[in-house]
Amino acid sequence: MMFRRLWDNKQFVISVSIFIIFLFNLPSLSAAFTQTERYNFQRSIVDFRSRLNPSYMKVQRKKTKYIIVHTSELSLKTTLRVVSKGKHLRNGRRTNGGHAHYVIARNGRTYRILDKKYVADNAGRSMWNGDTHISKLSIGIELVGHHYAPISEKQYRSAGILIEILQDVYDLYDRSVLTHSQVAYGLPNRWFKEVHRGRKRCAKNFVRTKAGLGPTWPYDPDVRAGRLMADVQLSEVFYGQHKIDPQPDEANVISRRNTAWAIAGEDYDSTTTVYKFPNGRQYTGDQVADEVGWNRVPAKTVVRLNYESRFELLKDNGIIKTISNGITAWSLAGKSYDHETTIYFLPSGKIKPGSMINDWDDLPAKTRLIIGYQGPYKLNKDRTAFRIAGLKYKDQKTIYYLPSKKLLSGNQIRDFSQLPIGTFIFLPTTL
Ligand SMILES: [Zn+2]
Repeated sequence: MMFRRLWDNKQFVISVSIFIIFLFNLPSLSAAFTQTERYNFQRSIVDFRSRLNPSYMKVQRKKTKYIIVHTSELSLKTTLRVVSKGKHLRNGRRTNGGHAHYVIARNGRTYRILDKKYVADNAGRSMWNGDTHISKLSIGIELVGHHYAPISEKQYRSAGILIEILQDVYDLYDRSVLTHSQVAYGLPNRWFKEVHRGRKRCAKNFVRTKAGLGPTWPYDPDVRAGRLMADVQLSEVFYGQHKIDPQPDEANVISRRNTAWAIAGEDYDSTTTVYKFPNGRQYTGDQVADEVGWNRVPAKTVVRLNYESRFELLKDNGIIKTISNGITAWSLAGKSYDHETTIYFLPSGKIKPGSMINDWDDLPAKTRLIIGYQGPYKLNKDRTAFRIAGLKYKDQKTIYYLPSKKLLSGNQIRDFSQLPIGTFIFLPTTL
């Protein structure tokens, strides 16, 4: 009776529920992963060490104080190549690779690039709590993806297990785990008069709790000690009172707060950073200075990192976009990449909406896509293009997929009576 009455009491029910939720969220005192999970994870690591650039000088690390988390800002294939073999520098030279110990793909698959006992050239110009050359003191983990897009759940799981294992090996606590954006610093430039944070934006979207980690430092020790100038946006992200969590779709869009520097860091003026203005014009970072001026980049300009060449930049301009090395579904479609209305045309001839694709890492190069479309509507004798698309059948935005795998806009077709049977039509969702 007594219990029944209690149970009818809303307050009581709420308190019990809150208590149960609390129990399930208690930080576990023991390891978060079982021995079997750890064992299976370690066995699943893909050994990529043989791909390391032979010119990379392997030097044993004397001390391990940190684990540095990065986002690669590249596709899986390019990430693996760059961290193993090296990357081009602005002065025309190349690095010798060895830029990470581990790479974690979007599907959680983890690659070993370099044995953990060696120094990986992962942090560049860096400082933490007075330590400099963080590469010499750290393990580097590269997450495939962009700092302005969410890290996948599977990546968080793998990162969580990997970090837990490494913490045990090197006796590191959660605060030893930092992002590259926390530890990198830059020399004075047009944005800062003194040495400063913000050279890298790497992994500023890394949600520690999702990897089973406790909070980071409550402040930046080098800024507090006056060794470095703070970067306003990064200090809000990592140490702010009200942690800002920018929406991925606006995180790479210029606004008064979100400057080119805040988005691209030291790569703001690089040839591989592309600015797409609201009027549709596109410029690479090096062109902005000469042709526009940094203080005249308009709000709502979209910034994309790591374009491999201007050629690819041009391909991105039209309605039909093409995935290629360095240009991912995310960089083309933004947050719509996995929507039902983003339609992918695979080289095999398969057509899939974004909502039906699971393995984003394995989307082949030359896959084409259109964003904001519905269909397919199959053309046949009784169902002409006009019946399907109405007056818009000749419109540039009406897309035809021919049995020959050719994709054409309505305005590119001269004779509609010659369209083969089996042609599919796709219509924009907003007509
Ligand atoms: Zn990094």
